[in-house]
Amino acid sequence: MLCIPTVDFDVLRHMVYNQRGMTVLFSNSVLPKDCYYGGEPLGGTAMKPLLIDLDGTLYHGSHMIPEADHFILSLREKQFPYLFVTNNSSRTPEQVALHLSGMGIPADSQDVCTSAMAAARFIAEEHPGARVYCIGEEGLQRAIMDAGLQLVEENPDVVVQGIDRHFTYDKLAAAMRWIMDGARFVMTNPDLQLPASGGLTPGAGTLGAAIEAATQVKPLVIGKPSGILMNYALEHLGANAADTLVVGDNIRTDIAAGAAAGCKTALVLTGVSTRTNMEAHIQVAAVRPDYVFNDLPELLAWLER
Ligand SMILES: [Mg+2]
Repeated sequence: MLCIPTVDFDVLRHMVYNQRGMTVLFSNSVLPKDCYYGGEPLGGTAMKPLLIDLDGTLYHGSHMIPEADHFILSLREKQFPYLFVTNNSSRTPEQVALHLSGMGIPADSQDVCTSAMAAARFIAEEHPGARVYCIGEEGLQRAIMDAGLQLVEENPDVVVQGIDRHFTYDKLAAAMRWIMDGARFVMTNPDLQLPASGGLTPGAGTLGAAIEAATQVKPLVIGKPSGILMNYALEHLGANAADTLVVGDNIRTDIAAGAAAGCKTALVLTGVSTRTNMEAHIQVAAVRPDYVFNDLPELLAWLER
């Protein structure tokens, strides 16, 4: 174990593990702006691909996190390949890009990967030409149609479910019937709660939990923490997992999914996972981020060094 002197409780909070599983302790005196990270540099001077989470990483709801615009602009200028990767299936890629650019973060629809797109691709590959009963919003419906699948109300091969703010008892009953008749149950993302102005609201995972309870069938999960969305994003970007850095604010979703796909992972402490709850999240997720940064400017400085 490499240990830099002046160990105290602050230093212990900076305990991380590097790529070879070694424990590295940094003292505050050697860290820029109380940033802490461990492991080897991502590698050489090559511009490494990044898969970047949205909510909690670039913005909170409709408010940009400070310097997120500069972070993305810098990646563009330095020609880092990157994609925005989101569990949210409600928006089309065009709507996601519009949401980002409306906050001042430069974005094009082709920069966006959603759990809806990955779900549609997965279904099209596993069940070509499938009849799909969809519980979801425009982003999911559009992705299903764009993948050449049929949206149906009766006798589906697949029930795909995402966030649906018009979820009803009738939709639950239909999903239950089709799944119990043998349709495959695919869920875009398992998030139980969503941040919203005024508090938390039920996420796609909560609706899926009702379907699971009714059918006693577990869904195939596409979004984070599953690696399926990340693998889709890697293919979309034409990147190798081992070269790619997954950036996110949530150890239990972003970091877990990145690790599941074989990527390097960087946690930014601007959202769900904090200094206070980080170790608890690591225990629950059974995965540890490769790198930890207070915010995007610290991550950018590290990428540019
Ligand atoms: Mg997030």
